[in-house]
Amino acid sequence: MLDSIKKIFSNEGDEPVNTTGKPDISREKSTELYEKSKAFFPGGVNSPVRAFKSVYGTPLFIAKGDGCHIWDADGNQFIDFCCSWGPLILGHNHPKVREKVTEVMQNGMSFGAPTALENELAELLLKNNKFIKKLRFVSSGTEAVMSAIRLARGYTKRDKILKFEGCYHGHSDSLLVKAGSGLVTFGETSSAGVPKSFADETIVVGLNDIAALDKAFEEFKDQIAAIIIEPVPANNGLLLQTKEYLQYLREICTKNGTLLIFDEVISGFRVGFEGAAGHYGIQPDIITYGKIIGGGLPVGCYGASVEIMGSISPDGPVYQAGTLSGNPVAMAAGIAQLTELLRMGFYRDLNNKTEEFTESIQRFATARNYKFKVFSIGSIFWFAYTDKETISSAEEIDPASMEKFKIMHRELLNRGIYLGPSGYEVGFISSAHTKVDLEKAKRAIFESLDLVFRK
Ligand SMILES: *Cc1c(COP(=O)(O)O)cnc(C)c1O
Repeated sequence: MLDSIKKIFSNEGDEPVNTTGKPDISREKSTELYEKSKAFFPGGVNSPVRAFKSVYGTPLFIAKGDGCHIWDADGNQFIDFCCSWGPLILGHNHPKVREKVTEVMQNGMSFGAPTALENELAELLLKNNKFIKKLRFVSSGTEAVMSAIRLARGYTKRDKILKFEGCYHGHSDSLLVKAGSGLVTFGETSSAGVPKSFADETIVVGLNDIAALDKAFEEFKDQIAAIIIEPVPANNGLLLQTKEYLQYLREICTKNGTLLIFDEVISGFRVGFEGAAGHYGIQPDIITYGKIIGGGLPVGCYGASVEIMGSISPDGPVYQAGTLSGNPVAMAAGIAQLTELLRMGFYRDLNNKTEEFTESIQRFATARNYKFKVFSIGSIFWFAYTDKETISSAEEIDPASMEKFKIMHRELLNRGIYLGPSGYEVGFISSAHTKVDLEKAKRAIFESLDLVFRK
């Protein structure tokens, strides 16, 4: 997300010409709201990517969502492939989630004391996930990752962490760091306000680059507390890694007394109930979750073995706390959503549906010789304007291809399809997307591709 944010801001200004014969959707009400919000919030938004800086027009203000559809303030209806950036795996306003939240809300919103609901969500999770034995709830993915890093440092009594270019782990200081020049480097901060001394504790290497990884472990022998990776990197395109590579990370960590952290804020409960750990059959030392786990409300979580979690306060010396952690209403949404995910065949159906969708789009593009590739895993997909067969590191993405995304995004909005407003972001399919919806979306995508690739 970081690199994309950078690119978003450099992209401002040149708008693709609308030559589609389809009029642009009305944005009268959204524009009014945006004019107001700009006075309240930096960029008019409360999270930067929402500002539509890398796509055409003012951001759409969303009025409501139901199933796979959303409606904006002007009443335009869209099939939504953003799904709140991933959490809504059951679609918008799912009756089971809504009912459970409404029921729990009758008893009050927050106590700052334990409730049975925390036990219920934890039990649901631990019973069905063999990769963690104990966990702690927090309120966002950023918080989960930040806490996991502190836990790894506290547990190993080492300071340095190693991350990969092209992975996003939220906005905490240690992780707003990008690669410098050279094979193995201390990171450079990727945001103003992050002290250089923080970046000096973060080593950044390229994804899928074993030589760089080996060199980092040579150079910083016995200093690296943890490797953190999105096992399914999905914040800078979809940079799928091989199982062998992830297995190599496991081995090098074990050999060096370094902890392996899987940041599964996106992949957790998305590529399967046990996330990427289950998908690849690899046991990390710490796993972070967010997004889907809260059913659309703010929940994050980190988990590990009983021994490692024993370092967290009040059992151990690593401090971590939260006034609204384990919030009953948020727990209720998580319980309702995860219960649905555990139904027999849930992932099989969702993944099959996604595969049919992505394969048919790929067939269309290939038949017409478009430089276009759909990458996909589980119910995540990413449109890449490329002729490469695989893209497994950030540097393989051609920034110029984002111009094509920009046209695509506008054409799709005009045809009732909503994608996240950046070409570096992936799309999500929910169980609420029916075959009929996906057929409709495919037709809009075909038409838009023809316009994007028109000579
Ligand atoms: C979204 C995301 C985060 C940050 O989660 P927030 O809830 O936005 O703070 C961290 N890691 C990954 C992999 C993510 O996709």
